[in-house]
Order: sequence, then structure tokens, then C-alpha cells
Amino acid sequence: MAKYESHRSNYRSGHQRHDRHETPQIDVEVGQRFPLTIKRMGINGEGIGYYKRMAVFVPGALTNEEAVVEVTTVAHRFLRGKIHRLRKVSPYRVEPRDSYADQVGGFELEHLAYPQQLQFKRDIVRQSLERYQPRGFKDYDVRPTLGMADPYAYRNKAQFQVRKTADGTVQAGLYAERSHDLVDLPTCSVQMPVTMTVMRALVTMLQDLEVPIYDEEHNSGIVKTLVVRAAANTNDVQVVFITNSQKLPHKHQLLLRIADELPQVTSVMQNVNPGKTSLIWGDQTLHLAGADAITEKLGGLAFKLSARAFLQLNPAQTEVLYDQARKALDLQPGQTVVDAYSGIGTIGLSLANTAKEVRGMDVIPEAVADANANAEANGITNAHYEVGTAEDVMSQWAVAGFRPDAIVVDPPRTGLDETLMDTILAVHPEKLVYISCNPSTLAKDLVTLTEDYRVDYIQSVDMMPQTARCEAVVKLSQR
Ligand code: SAH
Repeated sequence: MAKYESHRSNYRSGHQRHDRHETPQIDVEVGQRFPLTIKRMGINGEGIGYYKRMAVFVPGALTNEEAVVEVTTVAHRFLRGKIHRLRKVSPYRVEPRDSYADQVGGFELEHLAYPQQLQFKRDIVRQSLERYQPRGFKDYDVRPTLGMADPYAYRNKAQFQVRKTADGTVQAGLYAERSHDLVDLPTCSVQMPVTMTVMRALVTMLQDLEVPIYDEEHNSGIVKTLVVRAAANTNDVQVVFITNSQKLPHKHQLLLRIADELPQVTSVMQNVNPGKTSLIWGDQTLHLAGADAITEKLGGLAFKLSARAFLQLNPAQTEVLYDQARKALDLQPGQTVVDAYSGIGTIGLSLANTAKEVRGMDVIPEAVADANANAEANGITNAHYEVGTAEDVMSQWAVAGFRPDAIVVDPPRTGLDETLMDTILAVHPEKLVYISCNPSTLAKDLVTLTEDYRVDYIQSVDMMPQTARCEAVVKLSQR
């Protein structure tokens, strides 16, 4: 999911994808049961135990629990299993608020008490460092994760797949893990309530008006995905219908009902994404009603936000994250700074009052247009954003002789491109801050970056409570 969602239709990641059909190193079959003690938790939040020295990944199991596990996948070097029965229950196990928490991605840790979720996230950072061993990693100051007082109802965006069941009921939700079976989500404890109210009302409207719903198997029908995004600090709400074609049957009635029944909705858009594709968003976005964007306020600045532009999913923790980024960067008056992977310019623009100059770039043209418009709307004249990849734009600037004092990078889950790291090492800014949403790629990238930089500290921030996702701010300085 942009960065957390990667614009792709599911949350799958990690080891599960590999070598599923190879012969295992030991004699074991799907369906077989055995007792297992969970030794630790893996990066996707699953419990890990060992059966005849093979790692067994068990979603929903917690450290120190003893379970009878049933094998669900046999691969060459690992097994996957599900809990058949728990013999010893962790004192930190809690009842999940969402009944379907074990079926879909995004609730990996809802059965774990929140203080332990925060410990888990710090551990994940440590585990990733152990795995890639960047220079000096044993001495890194890995600080306790900053969490939320109330770790629910935080998510500002719901992006749900839509389908019609055999009996004609319209449903909206997420795919069950490792499948395209939709799980209808009538409620969702991590979503901001307004996003769910609007989502469920839209589902009812699609049902009542018999708007054709996309059918993946036959590549027929129209509405594929519903997106509802709310701005926490202005109360703006945007709805996007992602459709299989430019046509949206019963559009007029749909818009009338939205205007009538959902006064909280301030913007209605349509995004066209034809055909079978694993990408959720298409290239064309049409304006249907209300404003063509919503505005969110962060750190005293107003940010216009287009439908396809990325914004952090947790508004309260975004302020915490950006405070940490600013603190780590410790920009001095008169310094120049690059905001790489800038989205709508939220990080760079909040530094503009200290900086002499801010430059940034992003691959999404709408996001860059928003960033430049946001600079102007906030009276900022020393910030400029360009469309392009961080790797290309940074090297063009370097060739043109631009030597920033500071760089902040905030890449998607894939981490930094090798060329970009080479350019950063060549340009050699005094200060470097890495904001990461994936501890694995962070640890891997640190192997390269620590050739020239030392890690002062790593501060993780919990942007996605109840999930296994972990965000971290790394302060680096020249060796
Ligand atoms: N800093 C912003 C956005 C971070 S999300 C914020 O805090 O809101 C990561 C951003 O990187 C997304 O906006 C995505 O469009 C952009 N992106 C992805 N690949 C990129 C690349 N190779 N070069 C530049 N930007 C990229």
C-alpha cells in the first residue's frame, strides 16, 4: 500500500512466493499436524518455530506460544502452517477487534497487545540489520518505537475492491491473503470512521442503482475499486470510482445520491483502468463532482492532494514522523536540501522556512504539480519540484554542479536505486536522512551508504498499528 500499497492489488510479500513446488528437505506433507513452539516473529508478523530444523511460518501465532500446527504449504526450505490448537497461550494475546483479522492483510498483529506490537517493530529493525550487517550495525542506537495513544481509527484512506456475489450482493473489501477471494469488510477498526461510513453508503448505492460491477474472470462490468480518502484536519473527503472503462452507468443518479446522502464528501473522481491488470490505478483521472482534490493540513501548512498522489496513511503519526525527520536533519539556516521521493512536497515544504533552497522530485506528475502548487499556496518561493525518478533527477542536478547540504530520502518499499546511492555518495551531503517503510531494504541500502556515512540512530515510528508494517527515520552523517 503508493508506498504502503505500491498501487498493486494485494499485500503479499516475503518468502512465501519462492520455491513453493520444490521438494522439501524433510519428509512432511500438507495436512500433517505436529506440536510447535514459537521462537520469534518474522517480518510479516507471523510466528516462527522449527520442525526438524525447518522453519515453520505460522500466521497468528505469538512468541513463546505452543501450538499444534497444521501444515498448509511445503516448500524446499520452509513450511507454512496454521494454528490447529493452542496449548500454551501468550500473556500478550488479545482478542482482535476485527472478526476477519486473520483472513486479510493489514491486521497481522491485531491479536498482540499494543506495547508488544511496538517492541516487535523495533525487533524487526534489529533482525533486518542482523541479516544484512551494514558497517558497525552492532553499535547502532535503535530507539524504542514511537506509538499512538489510541492505535485504532487512524487510517485516512480505504481502497477496497468491489465485486458482485452470485446472489447479486455488492461487496467491498480486501482480498484474502494469497488469493483473489474478496472478504467483504462492513467495518474496519483501523479506518477513520468517516471512510467506512462513506464506503458502505457507496456500496448500497451501487447495489440499488444496479451499476455494473467488474467481473475479473470475464473482464466485464465497470466498477473495480472504491477509494475513499479523508483529510483529518480539514474534514475534506474524496471518493474515487476506479473503473474498467470511461463509461460509468447511472453516473447522474449516483452523483445525485452522493450529494444528497453524503454531504461530508467534497470531491468525486473517476479513475479509468481498463482490462485485467495487477495495478489498481489507471493513468486517466476524470473529475465528476465537487472539488478536484482535497486539502490536508500538516504542521501548519495546507496541502492539496490529487487522487493519485501519495499521502501518509496515518495523519496523527505523520506529524510525529516529520518531526523526527526534521530533528534528524537538523537543518541550519541557509542550507540547501533535497526532498527525494517527495509526494506532494510535505517534507520539503515544512523545511522551507529554514532552508535556503528546497528541491524535490517524484515520478507521479500529479503529485509534483500538487507539490509546486502547495509551495505557492503556502507562500513558499524557495522550493521547486520536478517530475522524474530520484536516480535520474539527482544525477542531472549533480552533473549541473548542484551540491546540497542535506538530503532526505523517503522511498517506496523497494528502497533506493543503486544509481541514486552512487550519486548521493558522490555528492556527499553533510547530512543524510533516510525515511524507510521497509526495514529489509533499509538494512540492505545501509550496507552501501555506510561506506561513507555513519548511522547516528534509528528511530522507528508506528504509522500502521495492528499491522506488521514498520517505518523508521535514520540519521546519517559523514564519517
Ligand atoms: N515523502 C512523501 C512521499 C513518500 S512515498 C510523503 O511523506 O508523503 C514515496 C513516493 O515515491 C511516492 O510519492 C512515489 O510516487 C514516489 N516514487 C516511487 N518511485 C520513485 C522513484 N524512482 N523516484 C522518485 N519518486 C518515486
